[in-house]
Amino acid sequence: MSREGVTPQSEDFSAWYNEVVIKAQLVDRGPVRGTMVIRPYGYRMWELLQTDLDRRIKEAGHDNASFPMFIPESYLRREAEHVEGFSPELAVVTHAGGKELEEPLVVRPTSETVIGEYMAKWIDSHRDLPLLLNQWANVVRWEMRPRMFLRTTEFLWQEGHTAHADEDDAMRETMWALDAYASLARELAAMPVVAGEKTPGERFAGAVRTYTIEGMMRDGRALQAGTSHYLGTNFAKAFEIQYQDEAGKLVPAHTTSWGMSTRMIGGVIMTHGDDKGLVLPPRLAPYQVVIVPIGRGEVAERTGEAARRLGAAIKSMGIRVHVDDNRPQLSPGFKFNDWEMRGVPVRLEIGPRDLDNGVVTLARRLPTADAQGKEAVPLDRVPELLPGILADFQAFLLARAEAFREDNTRPADSWADFAAQVPTGWSLAFHCGRTECEEEIKADTAATPRCIPAEGPAEEGRCVKCDQPSAYGKRVIFGRSY
Ligand code: AMP
Repeated sequence: MSREGVTPQSEDFSAWYNEVVIKAQLVDRGPVRGTMVIRPYGYRMWELLQTDLDRRIKEAGHDNASFPMFIPESYLRREAEHVEGFSPELAVVTHAGGKELEEPLVVRPTSETVIGEYMAKWIDSHRDLPLLLNQWANVVRWEMRPRMFLRTTEFLWQEGHTAHADEDDAMRETMWALDAYASLARELAAMPVVAGEKTPGERFAGAVRTYTIEGMMRDGRALQAGTSHYLGTNFAKAFEIQYQDEAGKLVPAHTTSWGMSTRMIGGVIMTHGDDKGLVLPPRLAPYQVVIVPIGRGEVAERTGEAARRLGAAIKSMGIRVHVDDNRPQLSPGFKFNDWEMRGVPVRLEIGPRDLDNGVVTLARRLPTADAQGKEAVPLDRVPELLPGILADFQAFLLARAEAFREDNTRPADSWADFAAQVPTGWSLAFHCGRTECEEEIKADTAATPRCIPAEGPAEEGRCVKCDQPSAYGKRVIFGRSY
């Protein structure tokens, strides 16, 4: 890896991604395979997501709590599908305190089991419902093909866990969480995700129904960026989460769980990035504005002073700003490229001639194909102009991503059209609903059903692979995925 620049995205998407996460100082490789160190620049993005989602979660009546990361192995065995689904990914502690443990402990891959155990303890009557919990935590899944942010063996997430009196209430909750994720993706990450239900073959282990938000990355692949599960009474029966109804009868609760993780940051990178590196939506950018003073010696004192004064004025407006005045050994050109690679939405350059003219040079981080020149802006008007510029840039990225997804999504009614479409985008196709048929499609094309889109029009047709009648009354989105 050279010090300057990254492999262009258009040349090798995968190499581009792997280089940009490191060079933009989002992460470093962890000492154990598949783990990552999230550096301050990357962690700030996580905090911005977290703050917004936490507010939504609390406003909707949920409370945060914290459960232990070690789960007795026997807990996982109580729900047969759950243990079967998660077994290959478990990290298990067998020794502690210098001795072999009587019962192995699983490092939580997700917390339905341990939270279920306590829900059972805390719920007696219908008056205790709904019970609406959330936890912010790290979890461990031993992933075979790890990738920074997208699939790490340890990741950060929130997991919502709720218990309800009946299916209707639990389904309302499941859809609330899905909608919260879709809004968060659109509004903060500028990711125009599609929300929908997973097919039975793609369901969470132990769920009755799984819902997902799927985003299209710039190589045409899909990313599952958040999931919400209606668990029916599966976990309630396994953990005896039951309550007395108004007639005094003991009945099992209906539970839900939903999670969004650090994977979302990978989604932001692959939705907006370009050949030069990251392009960050202002609402998630650690620095929304960077100011680069230009010049050496006495000139640097003048431009540096003006940059700091402007920085303070911008900061006082609640805008995240950084003044790059502490790297005299680097040329202005190097700094410009560096901030472009790191995706900062707006760069302000202040040179001595700019100062004489009472202006600064403003450059937006426009993606390569849309690149425009820089413009001179009156220095004293910069603070009042920035909120509008940042909001426009945020809206531009969402519209651009939406247009990209539209351009790369096509209906397919023949196997030939389907096979031609999925290497570079999404295919809308009818499917018979059989898991074996999904597996054949995957073996032939590497594409999987991403979701049955909630907003897709009602339509009937025949399975694109096996010609049996379609199972869902609408087309399914297929694509290759991360
Ligand atoms: P799940 O509990 O399997 O439904 O996962 C909830 C969400 O966590 C998924 O929708 C993903 O966005 C995310 N996720 C799952 N596995 C990983 C992983 N290994 N690394 C990062 N995020 C993950």
